[in-house]
Amino acid sequence: MSDWLTEGLPHIWLPYTQMATAAPPLAVVATQGVRIRLADGRELIDGISSWWTACHGYSHPHIRAAVEQQLAALPHVMFAGLVHEPALRLAQRLAALLPGDLERVFFTESGSVAVEVALKMAIQYWRNKGRAEKKRIVYFRHAYHGDTFATMALCDPDEGMHALFAGTMPDQIMAELPTDESLRRAFDLLLETHGERLAAVIIEPLVQGAGGMQMHDAATLAFIAEACTRHKVLLVADEIMTGFGRSGRMFACEEANVLPDIVCLSKALTGGTLPLAATVARRHVFEAFLSDDPAAALMHGPTYMANPLACAAANASLDLFEREPRLAQVAAIEAQLSRELSSCGELAGVAGVRVKGAIGAVELSGNVDLKHLRTRFTELGIWLRPFGNVVYLMPPFIITADDLATLTAAVRQVLAERAALL
Ligand SMILES: *Cc1c(COP(=O)(O)O)cnc(C)c1O
Repeated sequence: MSDWLTEGLPHIWLPYTQMATAAPPLAVVATQGVRIRLADGRELIDGISSWWTACHGYSHPHIRAAVEQQLAALPHVMFAGLVHEPALRLAQRLAALLPGDLERVFFTESGSVAVEVALKMAIQYWRNKGRAEKKRIVYFRHAYHGDTFATMALCDPDEGMHALFAGTMPDQIMAELPTDESLRRAFDLLLETHGERLAAVIIEPLVQGAGGMQMHDAATLAFIAEACTRHKVLLVADEIMTGFGRSGRMFACEEANVLPDIVCLSKALTGGTLPLAATVARRHVFEAFLSDDPAAALMHGPTYMANPLACAAANASLDLFEREPRLAQVAAIEAQLSRELSSCGELAGVAGVRVKGAIGAVELSGNVDLKHLRTRFTELGIWLRPFGNVVYLMPPFIITADDLATLTAAVRQVLAERAALL
């Protein structure tokens, strides 16, 4: 084993990991395309795009060249009172890509913080309009919006960390996704009952990611948007996971013809290369902050916001969406995932199979030995990281049909092994 591994591991604290019992992490030395190369010489096919970020695969030469050029000219400068070309071009391009008048971009460095900024925007929006009592947020069962305190309070209370941190988080309101008529009446009633105190509804449009790859249809999303308008509550679309093609369109909201008041973006924004996030507001949201009162200004400002290297990477990533057939690749992945994962539904211990865009999920029933599943996938030469009771695939969009077939075959094999033991 290399020195950096043996000497460094005792000083590292890994995320969501019981350090007493977890399998040791794998040492990575390089990435290329859809492949992760390990220090021991093995190669894994990546089925989850490094937490759903690496949409163009790894080490795309166009992004590398853009970042290298930016590094030589202007790696970073503070973004208060100073601006630079990579951020302004990126803001302009995001505004052009997003629907309607979603046109004001606030840059941060992570998805959770992008959601925090959306919450501040929504709450300050109403305060600036003389409605300071409108400050609570509605979220949905199975939601995931981040790991910071304000965003944890918007995650599914059973799947999330509510019990661990009870009493330390803001108290928000959970709703069921209004997927049928009676749930729609209930959602409507909830907005009517609490409307006077609500700042916003927040949703991961069409696919709820970390809460288990739960999917709902465009009509449900359209109903939520319409109810928000009717009850004068802002709609925040957390497209951190769905944005940039993952669900099939550039943004999931497009499929339902929904224009949210605020959109959060991150994960694939830089093509999986550098940390960056954006909270994008409609014109009327921005205009509520314009006044003679300094306290009416948006009160947020991360030190590394709008980092030029990250913005250059994001601009290069958007170039690739223009130059290379990403959305067609997503459609092909969707068709192949549907074909090749459907037979998993017949296995014992499988509760269901769901596919949407470049997302394929197999929900398991019964006891799930995550550690064993993860080990088996690595032994088969693929990198997957199932969570809860869901094994999912979210490959880079550039994956070949052969590599994707290797991923789906490995999933079928490991789940068949599990079925044989049930
Ligand atoms: C990942 C994710 C976040 C949090 O992003 P971080 O960069 O991990 O803070 C928020 N919302 C959604 C929908 C996500 O998938």
